[in-house]
Amino acid sequence: MDVVESSRTIYKRVQEERSVGRSVGFVPTMGGLHRGHEELVQQSVDDNNVTVVSIFLNPAQFDSDADYEAYPASRDEDVQTVEQAGADYVFYPEYEEMYTEGDSTTVRVKSSLTERFEGEYKEQFFDGVTRILTKLFNIIPSSKAYFGEKDLQQLVVVKRMVEDLKFPHEIVPVPTVRDQYGVAYSSRNRRLKDRDWETVRSVYDIFQGIKDTEHTTITSELDQVRNQIEQVGMDLEYLALISYPDFTPTTFQDEDAVCIMAGRVGEVRIKDNLPIHVESVRQLEKNRNPVSEHA
Ligand code: AMP
Repeated sequence: MDVVESSRTIYKRVQEERSVGRSVGFVPTMGGLHRGHEELVQQSVDDNNVTVVSIFLNPAQFDSDADYEAYPASRDEDVQTVEQAGADYVFYPEYEEMYTEGDSTTVRVKSSLTERFEGEYKEQFFDGVTRILTKLFNIIPSSKAYFGEKDLQQLVVVKRMVEDLKFPHEIVPVPTVRDQYGVAYSSRNRRLKDRDWETVRSVYDIFQGIKDTEHTTITSELDQVRNQIEQVGMDLEYLALISYPDFTPTTFQDEDAVCIMAGRVGEVRIKDNLPIHVESVRQLEKNRNPVSEHA
């Protein structure tokens, strides 16, 4: 596996690979890699001849310097994880490589989608994501790019951007990878204190319970879950039932209903989502578009 720091070099390599007919899959990450990221890489390795992983901790998508600085990523461990997962190239740029002096172009998905839920609590987040991905998609002209369903709103925003700006990348959703207690792997979970883990596991149990209850009225049921989650110690930001992919309010009867949730446990922000009637969002997309290979 090659570790490449220069955007020109990785661009040339990807072009060379594609010019001899090899398909290239791309997995963008911020480091602090875990089983969830590994799954994205493995999915790309299964689907393509060549896999490129980028590791870049993008300051533009953090609202606070403290959160950025505390982000748990280690270069050596991350490179090793990517290699073991079977990638061919890691693009590992320095800050100056991605944001040259005077950099002042932003890319914004201007819709209500970026203002609600994650957009409401993390104001810079989506602009930061679309700004860095525009650069990365230009540098790494892959055929497919892999994104986790764990960050569901991000997945929808990225798809919107790709469609609007006519990027050639096919966006492939990868189902959320969870630990034995059902908790979704997340880089930030490394910062959880021992005593917080119990809370996080209880939150997941309560959240998962939404799938099992009889769905009569949305309001009373969600209120009940909200109370339970707060009682076990999470500082809840939002819990809502939305229709995928519009993120508009919906009912439990909606086939595309997904319950979304975010909040804080100690210093760590936790976020999760659960499609109500199927296992994964990939399945929802398949129901919508049965001919697509991945959806
Ligand atoms: P990040 O490094 O947090 O920007 O994440 C890079 C990619 O990994 C994003 O597409 C995430 O949605 C995805 N990802 C993060 N956690 C998980 C998980 N537990 N399961 C599947 N994908 C994940």
